[in-house]
Amino acid sequence: MRKALSVTSECVPLIKTGGLADVAGALPGALAPSGWHLRTLLPGYPSILKAVGKGKVVMEDADLFGGPGKLRSVTAAGLKLFVLEAPHLYDREGGPYLDAAGKDWPDNPRRFAALSWMAARIGAEGVGTWKPEVVHCHDWQAGFAPLYLSEMGEGRPGTIMSVHNMAFHGLAPAAERAALRLPARRFGQDGYEFWGKISALKAGLVAADRLTTVSPSYARELLTPEFGMGMDGLLRQRAQDLSGILNGIDTGAWDPATDPAIANFKSPAGKKRAKAALREEFGLPEADGPLCIVVSRLSEQKGLDVLIEALPALVDQGGQLALLGSGDRALEAAFRKAAEAHPYVSVRIGYDEDLSHRMFAGADAVLVPSRFEPCGLTQLYGLRYGAVPVVAHTGGLIDTVIPASPMALRSGIATGIQFHPVTSHALAGALMDAVSLYKSPGIWAMLQKNGMKQAVGWEASAPDYAALYDEVARP
Ligand code: ADP
Repeated sequence: MRKALSVTSECVPLIKTGGLADVAGALPGALAPSGWHLRTLLPGYPSILKAVGKGKVVMEDADLFGGPGKLRSVTAAGLKLFVLEAPHLYDREGGPYLDAAGKDWPDNPRRFAALSWMAARIGAEGVGTWKPEVVHCHDWQAGFAPLYLSEMGEGRPGTIMSVHNMAFHGLAPAAERAALRLPARRFGQDGYEFWGKISALKAGLVAADRLTTVSPSYARELLTPEFGMGMDGLLRQRAQDLSGILNGIDTGAWDPATDPAIANFKSPAGKKRAKAALREEFGLPEADGPLCIVVSRLSEQKGLDVLIEALPALVDQGGQLALLGSGDRALEAAFRKAAEAHPYVSVRIGYDEDLSHRMFAGADAVLVPSRFEPCGLTQLYGLRYGAVPVVAHTGGLIDTVIPASPMALRSGIATGIQFHPVTSHALAGALMDAVSLYKSPGIWAMLQKNGMKQAVGWEASAPDYAALYDEVARP
């Protein structure tokens, strides 16, 4: 087996705030058949240390950015892990990135520089006989690792920087340069400087051997000023090194045939029962139109403010909305208000994995009106569970949903509805299309059936990652 280290700040089933965790959790299993053995390096948040046990200390660092660090090797949840125990950085209440009040931890640059530093040490020194040929870094939290490694000279492993969301740069004041152990000569436009600040993401983008993102369309979009978030110039220079590899979903965890949320899905009666149960759970009455769901972080990116404006187009025609999400306080309040105003709208503010399964099981449609979407996972759950995706024409949503154009309908290949641009007017049009297609039961059933036949697992993409690992590997 060949060896690779995956460096991430979150990983299913141990800690998750978004799609990155799903990908990090799935990659080791997905790549094993190609002969690549992955170990995953994670920060030792209290919840992780509690869940995985003590394992064995395999590396120590007396001065890991302000305190001692211990690297524990442990197997948990079917994953081979390195967990970085460093109480001064990770032993605190709150989320991985935010305190209990929802603000960034002020020492985030240092917390994740430490993770990246240990990744570089594992890459350069190996752990016992285990020395990776590839270090695969996910998002800004791992962004300094390729830079640290590139400063370590010969004998380093190959490096890959994967962008799961270009919106998060991991910025730090320039004054922290020395504390973050960054070389002064590389603070500049060609290096890790971003408009006078330090950017962990940019460090990874300039220093890694190869770059990836999570869909082919987002890879193209990142080369434009509209989506590149200030990194588009750099990415245009490195376009040859950038590839878009589509995310898959865990088809074992998301399997309508075995999911208790949707027993007997194979018969339409199963979906009907799940829908009735979902309506009851959300306190929604019977209605003629489609039952639509949203399962999402509530943030500007997800375009849900536009959904609030477009809601009348859905509910006035008998459509309904059940939303599960949390995040932006103003959006949470706006959805609560919409639920009070419309009997056909019901909202749960929070994060609830089990409920999300019951929602996909019972839904007719899933709405994803994102302004940008690197890949998106909920439209994939929707495809697999017969919840027709209604999505914005952007990023990974372009690559995963076949829009119901007249020709695609006639040819019997459509799987969902796409709209563009992300405005209330365009979304209202898409919602009206959804209602009218729903009211032609034969067509709706075809959309559902087509979606359920799509390959949404890792079978297609895992070999692409494996090929990339083969290319960058340095034994
Ligand atoms: P992002 O990573 O930008 O948040 P993705 O669609 O890639 O978006 O991944 C989001 C993941 O988090 C999906 O697995 C989705 O089901 C899950 N998720 C988001 N919000 C919630 C919630 N409130 N409750 C349960 N699961 C959620």
